[in-house]
Amino acid sequence: MERHKTNNYSNKRMKEYSIHGVPFVIVHEPDYSKVNPEEVIQRVEDMIPARLVDGLDGFYMAHLKEFDELNRNAVFKDNTIYITNEQDDFKDMLDDIVHELAHFTEIKFQDHIYGDGEIRDHFINKRYNLYNNLTSAGYDCDKQAFLKVDFNPNLDVFFHEEVGYSKLRGHLGGFPSPYSAVSLREYYAVVFTDYFCYDREEACRKCPEVCDKIHSLLGEE
Ligand SMILES: [Zn+2]
Repeated sequence: MERHKTNNYSNKRMKEYSIHGVPFVIVHEPDYSKVNPEEVIQRVEDMIPARLVDGLDGFYMAHLKEFDELNRNAVFKDNTIYITNEQDDFKDMLDDIVHELAHFTEIKFQDHIYGDGEIRDHFINKRYNLYNNLTSAGYDCDKQAFLKVDFNPNLDVFFHEEVGYSKLRGHLGGFPSPYSAVSLREYYAVVFTDYFCYDREEACRKCPEVCDKIHSLLGEE
């Protein structure tokens, strides 16, 4: 990480850093008593190799309107990662960046990650287990929705509001977390984040096929 400038733009003071040469701009500053972004940026650069960041246009810490509208903290769009400045602590900010980087890598290395269908097959198996578990527990589930991999807002609402994440945790059927069950892309991103930020061993025990892909991205095949 290199801190190269503090510039003025639209009368706003923005701090600019970089991760492997990709600019990281702080448009809205966080509460520094909770998190020091420089430390997080440094950690990301130490942890994530340059090839997994290369080609990204930039990182922006800015609180977008859509974060409130969609109840989100971060988004990867237009080849750029945006994260909110409303961060609880170091881990919270690190998690947001690494999760969105996962979405960048699945676009950049799409064929490599999804081309052989391995992750998809595991995801569908876990969805099938989840369907069986929830049906056995008395929930009325739409089976067809469970057997599709793309994000489905109805299923998202079903998991989040009808079942509720705390109850869903008891029926995961091999998913590492409730959120990882919402779509194939989120499954990959959650495991990628667990691998880098939390319990790597546990991530690879539960989702070895995703960790195999991460290992090969890291050149450790
Ligand atoms: Zn995501």
